[in-house]
Amino acid sequence: MASKVFKRLWSIVALEGLILLAVVVYLRREGLPDGLPLSIQWLPWAALGAGALVSWRFRRSRLLFGVIVLVLADRGLARWGWAATEPTTVFHAIALLLPVNLFGLTLLTERGAVTRAGLARFGVIGVQVGLVLLLAASKLEWLATPMRLSVLPEGWFGWTPVAQPALAVFLATAGFMGTRLVACPNATGRGFLWASAAAFLALNASGGAPPASVYLSTGSLILIVSVIEASYFMAYRDALTGLPARRALNEELLRLNGQYTIAMVDVDHFKKFNDEYGHEVGDQVLRMVAAELERVGGGGTPYRYGGEEFALLFPGKFAEEVVPHLERVRESIESATFTLRGGGRPKRRPENPKPRRNAKRKRVSVTVSIGAAGRSDRRSAPSEVASFADRALYRAKKTGRNRVKVAGGGP
Ligand code: GH3
Ligand code: MG
Ligand code: MG
Repeated sequence: MASKVFKRLWSIVALEGLILLAVVVYLRREGLPDGLPLSIQWLPWAALGAGALVSWRFRRSRLLFGVIVLVLADRGLARWGWAATEPTTVFHAIALLLPVNLFGLTLLTERGAVTRAGLARFGVIGVQVGLVLLLAASKLEWLATPMRLSVLPEGWFGWTPVAQPALAVFLATAGFMGTRLVACPNATGRGFLWASAAAFLALNASGGAPPASVYLSTGSLILIVSVIEASYFMAYRDALTGLPARRALNEELLRLNGQYTIAMVDVDHFKKFNDEYGHEVGDQVLRMVAAELERVGGGGTPYRYGGEEFALLFPGKFAEEVVPHLERVRESIESATFTLRGGGRPKRRPENPKPRRNAKRKRVSVTVSIGAAGRSDRRSAPSEVASFADRALYRAKKTGRNRVKVAGGGP
């Protein structure tokens, strides 16, 4: 339970949150030492260069746009954003545009930078730059009043130079991004949320441009890290079930020392199931099986091995010890039912579909066969243990399916 909560929390904070926390702590404790501000002038450009490179290599145009937005905000704030006594109109405009842009980027799909969609996105950023330049030239002064609008008592907001409209936008976009992240943790969403937090801190940084510049460059770094994290996730996680993928299992096996048990799990007659109910229902059943396997006891970790095959890895365990856990997970999969919308839905839409008002909700279920093998003196290499588990699985299939078999031949 506690580990579940921690996992959930980590999926939201992760490296991106830690990076921001480290920068906040550093700036609060140490401030910026004398002499550093000169090198800080290079920070945004270094962030832009790194962001552009990573964006190009990983084909993630949203990273490029995100970094461009942060660097432009940095330049705008440095040039026109801070006045001696109170924030300028440019400051208020940037405070509004930053969260809107970062949030907007989370809603867009990856469509390249030098494509028609990419050019349109550059265009939208360009329009905003034009707007800020006009404000800087003291044009469009009529916009200044609504940007400084106060609905709530001003005394409540003495702690921040950000005006109420921008505060509301920051709060709304962060709330939306946070909710989405809790529902569906992903590195890209996390990157934009924490980059948005970094942008907010930049606007609140006392001491004007240099600390703001550090925060905005931290925002870029966070976006870069989130792209790398997303790529790692793609390589090591199975997209359908969310379980670690075979590559993760192979690497984990190389790290294991001493005793362990591998169990191979294969869905019974799944080809027939797919033929009968369609591939999409099959996919949903695989997700259900994965969710059941995640609940296996005995310290087992499930992996998607490929297709309708899964592996369970039990570090430190002998095969005999894990059998009760395997039996339990087999039974829970057998008794888990999956409700189809409208029983007997045809796979393809018939030419003259009849109204099926009385269609019953049909319940379907699957079973799995499991073969397990523990490491022993006779078989110490992970590949050998896995192949013994495979053979045990084959026996489980041969002897009627929906059962657990353990490889014989102890130490
Ligand atoms: P057995 O009980 O002997 O394991 O029979 P089976 O039909 O499960 O075995 P077989 O290996 O012949 O077929 C596996 C089927 O699994 C074939 C394929 O249609 C299905 N399958 C593999 N990967 C996926 C997937 O990602 N989604 C869906 N829906 N089906 C998949
Ligand atoms: Mg199979
Ligand atoms: Mg099968």
